[in-house]
Amino acid sequence: MATIKLDNIKKSFGKTDVIHGVDIDIEDGEFIVIVGPSGCGKSTLLRMVAGLETVTSGEILIDGVQVNGVEPMDRDIAMVFQNYALYPHMSVEENMAYGLKIAKTPKAEITERVAEAARMLQLEPYLKRKPRELSGGQRQRVAMGRAIVRKPKVFLFDEPLSNLDAKLRVQMRLEIKELQSRLGITALYVTHDQVEAMTLADRMVVMNAGEADQIGAPLEVYSNPQTEFVAGFIGSPA
Ligand code: ADP
Ligand code: MG
Repeated sequence: MATIKLDNIKKSFGKTDVIHGVDIDIEDGEFIVIVGPSGCGKSTLLRMVAGLETVTSGEILIDGVQVNGVEPMDRDIAMVFQNYALYPHMSVEENMAYGLKIAKTPKAEITERVAEAARMLQLEPYLKRKPRELSGGQRQRVAMGRAIVRKPKVFLFDEPLSNLDAKLRVQMRLEIKELQSRLGITALYVTHDQVEAMTLADRMVVMNAGEADQIGAPLEVYSNPQTEFVAGFIGSPA
């Protein structure tokens, strides 16, 4: 479990400023959803928390420790992407074990953790299969499994469900939420989908062109939008 603090985070690519000073305080075990239209800077923000992108200025603190210069592998973070990023030539089992192998986790422990994740995600019958022999939902579960086995302090999700059909999206949304609350792992979840944000979030961050326009519980944001942008994107029809 972990707290995350983003303190006046800014990001520029060359001369283009894409994040203009974002402050977010995330509590232990909280499920935070960053929602906003395409291009507003959601992925960039998430990638900075993961350490996949440098911060131009500002500080990121995980459990009170500044991590700006810390490598992704050393941040105790697991990330789930939209395209799953599974290794096609590896079985489900090997995909889930891979990160642990790289981290030199003892073999017996790898076996145990993979088995536990497979049980949690109902992947036990599919452990020997290759990703191409799985449905979209099953692939998404493998990506989740790969994140869980690392026992991270923080889960980061970047539009993890956008490749799934509507029905499966709803089901996987529930599964992600259930798993996150069961494990109590702090989650930062990015989506452009307002409904997804409303249903998943303890608190949501509504982003608009590189700024966090409003942060609050879904109902609060919905019924009391603080800017015209938020009103248009999330708010109840006037
Ligand atoms: P979102 O995830 O909300 O769709 P992104 O964080 O991907 O938005 O992008 C925010 C802005 O930053 C966009 O204008 C995008 O073109 C720009 N951007 C993202 N990554 C890079 C990069 N590596 N180099 C230059 N510009 C980038
Ligand atoms: Mg994105």
